[in-house]
Amino acid sequence: MPHELLLFNTLGRRLEPLRPIVPDEVRIYTCGPTVYNEIHIGNLRTFLFQDLLRRSLRYLGYRVAQVMNLTDVEDKTIEGAQKAGVSLAAYTEPFVKTFLRDLDALHIERVESFPRATEHVPEMIDLIAKLVDKGYAYESDGSVFFSIAKDPDYGKLSGFDLDQARRGERVASDEYGKDDVRDFVLWKAVKPSEPSWDSPWGPGRPGWHIECSAMSMKYLGETFDVHCGGVDLIFPHHENEIAQSESATGKPFVHTWLHGEHLIVDGHKMSKSLGNQHTLPDLLARGCSARALRYLFLSVHYRQKLNFTFESLEGAAGALRRVDEMRFRLQHAAERGEPDPRLAEAAERLRSDFAAGLADDLNVAVALAALFGFVKEVNVAIEEGRIGTGDRQRVLDALADVDRVLGVLDPAEWPEGQTREEDEAEIERLVAERNTARGRRDFAASDRIRDDLAARGIVLEDTPQGTRWKRR
Ligand SMILES: [Zn+2]
Repeated sequence: MPHELLLFNTLGRRLEPLRPIVPDEVRIYTCGPTVYNEIHIGNLRTFLFQDLLRRSLRYLGYRVAQVMNLTDVEDKTIEGAQKAGVSLAAYTEPFVKTFLRDLDALHIERVESFPRATEHVPEMIDLIAKLVDKGYAYESDGSVFFSIAKDPDYGKLSGFDLDQARRGERVASDEYGKDDVRDFVLWKAVKPSEPSWDSPWGPGRPGWHIECSAMSMKYLGETFDVHCGGVDLIFPHHENEIAQSESATGKPFVHTWLHGEHLIVDGHKMSKSLGNQHTLPDLLARGCSARALRYLFLSVHYRQKLNFTFESLEGAAGALRRVDEMRFRLQHAAERGEPDPRLAEAAERLRSDFAAGLADDLNVAVALAALFGFVKEVNVAIEEGRIGTGDRQRVLDALADVDRVLGVLDPAEWPEGQTREEDEAEIERLVAERNTARGRRDFAASDRIRDDLAARGIVLEDTPQGTRWKRR
């Protein structure tokens, strides 16, 4: 039986236990990127929150089926392709590649399916036709609009006040055929030189909102468990997805809506004009570590704003260093005698406290406190020479176990994550460690450290003034 998980449902704004339709499988839809530019770290924070969600679900005993769409037909992709004078596919493909590259760089798992909007236009047309048949949508000059007046519970996700919206709303130049300014477009009649598909209403292209309804229901069913995205998508995008989907099927669309908060930079909203709209490649070029970035993003609860600063990134690197140092000391500690039952207990406590933290609306602060409590206990055991037979592996196994969720604890999986300074600090530490071992005449341990360093191309020279090291 999977562990029960409480999540904050935006629909209803309260914490609720997750009750998947299939008891041990969670079906998730995530609004993916519009592939018209390189994504910034604010987008990456949202995708990392979803990575934490899927990994936590698995840790707690669920299977996960997750779908993330790629929006490749939308105003911005069309405009970009026109400016570049290339086809939509040729324009969007490089941005699909850079998107996946950025996910990989932060060790964000690939979801089970990445459907593209352009490959699902027939499904969108079917859904729109259903809405027209049922009287929820109407055609006007080759475009089709959803009639909000026909949907009495419109606004239930966002708490949006419809009457207020009626006043003073601007109508986009291509949406003048609407009966009501609040109605939103499902199908846009073709404009000269734009890509288009044939439909019962003439040539045109789908609106953005219908893309997600059609693709999520195709892959996950008319009702599924979890839909997530950034808070900026609650209105109108997710509100409109609910309106379209539930009007078409007469069934609840999604049980649990989860939204990740924004990332801000140095206390300010990210914007092109402030020059603080960082991308991952920008940060890596400045020598930032992708590993520290992953840790930083994980360490702030998904419903809190995350203020990105270079100091906070250093703080994240420092936290990881504490775990790395423990790992190195452990690897070089000699196992003596019987295993220490206190370490086995500490490992069990880590697993259960970590799971309890995640099960409480992904409370990473609690989960990380359990991790650092464990690190401290292991350090004390090393200092007191209490590492017995099998204890080293027991500790490493516990770390690997929680790292199935964190994905950040094993430095060997982040070869690029170490800056030269970090590397040198680590060498200095190992040299000091070796001297301590020699001081207590533990030559097995000191030889092991020397061999490890030699394997990394570091040569030691013992002099009357102390040990020097150099790169071979
Ligand atoms: Zn969407």
